[in-house]
Amino acid sequence: MRALHVESHRAHRIGWLRASVLGANDGVVSVSSLVVGVAAGGATADVILLTGMAGLVAGALSMAAGEYISVQSQADTENADLERERKELHEDPEHELEELTNIYVERGLDLPLAKQVALKLTESDALTAHARDELGITEVLRARPVQAALASAAAFSVGAAIPILATVLAAKDHVALITTVITLLSLTALGSIAAWAGGATIWKGALRVTFWGAIAMGVTALVGKLFGANV
Ligand SMILES: [Zn+2]
Repeated sequence: MRALHVESHRAHRIGWLRASVLGANDGVVSVSSLVVGVAAGGATADVILLTGMAGLVAGALSMAAGEYISVQSQADTENADLERERKELHEDPEHELEELTNIYVERGLDLPLAKQVALKLTESDALTAHARDELGITEVLRARPVQAALASAAAFSVGAAIPILATVLAAKDHVALITTVITLLSLTALGSIAAWAGGATIWKGALRVTFWGAIAMGVTALVGKLFGANV
């Protein structure tokens, strides 16, 4: 039982880690591509830094907005389900008790014990028992839109800070090169962590993330060069 408890907490932490790494990955790729693109277009160091900062703020806000909207709609669904359950428990408590009993029978309890457990849990807190065992809604895993939005904006910002730091620290003539190298290294690290968190092969995960990051930076550098030559 203790192992199961620890495992479920670990699964929950891993879920958060994976979401944060993917958020950071978005930040690294989108802002480094922006930076490398304008650098390839011949922009000055100040303009490159400004672009990076604008990319960080715009990206973090859009991630937060997107996450908020999607998790809020999940929260709305959960609240509607709970409201319906509350109503059903009020209008037809016998049927709800039978329903809960059947759930425990399906899980392997014999009928007398299932009835006893359902009755006991209904007496102590019927809605929580039905939410957990019938709807799969638990307090720990409830949808939290604001928390999710802040977490994804923070993850994106941490990722985006990497290429921005590279542009600040790099010699003026080598901004694109230094940013590219530091970005690819950080993508390899992030890809490894995400693969580990997801229980996947680490080198495959690292390679996949680094490859697509390189493609994104390569294409934007090309576009930057084309536009830079014509501006
Ligand atoms: Zn129910």
